[in-house]
Amino acid sequence: MLRPQAAASGSPGDVGANAPTLRLTEVFLSLQGETSRAGLPTVFVRLAGCPLRCRWCDTTYSFQGGETVTLSALLARVAEYGVPTVCVTGGEPLAQKNCLPLLAALCDAGYSVSLETSGALDVSQVDPRVSRIVDVKPPESGEAARNRWENLAHLTPHDEIKFVLANRADYEWAREVLRAQHLDRISPVLFSPVQGELPPVQLAEWILADRLPVRMQVQLHKILWGNAKGR
Ligand code: SF4
Repeated sequence: MLRPQAAASGSPGDVGANAPTLRLTEVFLSLQGETSRAGLPTVFVRLAGCPLRCRWCDTTYSFQGGETVTLSALLARVAEYGVPTVCVTGGEPLAQKNCLPLLAALCDAGYSVSLETSGALDVSQVDPRVSRIVDVKPPESGEAARNRWENLAHLTPHDEIKFVLANRADYEWAREVLRAQHLDRISPVLFSPVQGELPPVQLAEWILADRLPVRMQVQLHKILWGNAKGR
């Protein structure tokens, strides 16, 4: 594995005060741990900041700080890894307005791009070449009131809908949403357990008992490396 690299703060190609910038927590190479891309070597671009506070958030270090980088410097950093798959994550990447041009630029450069987003912000303006991984926050997250249900109308089979579940009540809530909104007809649906709270085998048994049309997933990167930052 390559070590995560420090964010670059500029490049010779960035000139002028109007160069688009982003606030960046980290860029690193790892294996994608979730979604239908699980297992693929992937460059992760973790943007800083999030307006939500999910109770079980595992990336609280991205809430504050970060380094200001120009868009072109960030593209150059991604290119250094020589990997065709990129995931833009956070925090909540869409909280930064220049996330949209970043996603488009990554697609223009030929990468296969995914976006991990909280589901609280508008996803309709994301470049359609991007696979949007959109959370639906269950009650135990503490942020269910932030779900932007209008997003569902913009999703396609190229995107994925993700639930992170802490207990049986969350599971039953997600099952109801799945059935009522026919989510599996919109996009692949992912059910994940909150690490350390809901045993994965328990979630697996519930899904099988109910014959739910969802993909059960555990976080591959945490099995491999634990909760290490930049993995
Ligand atoms: S949306 Fe994501 S980054 Fe933000 S608090 Fe929730 S889990 Fe953490």
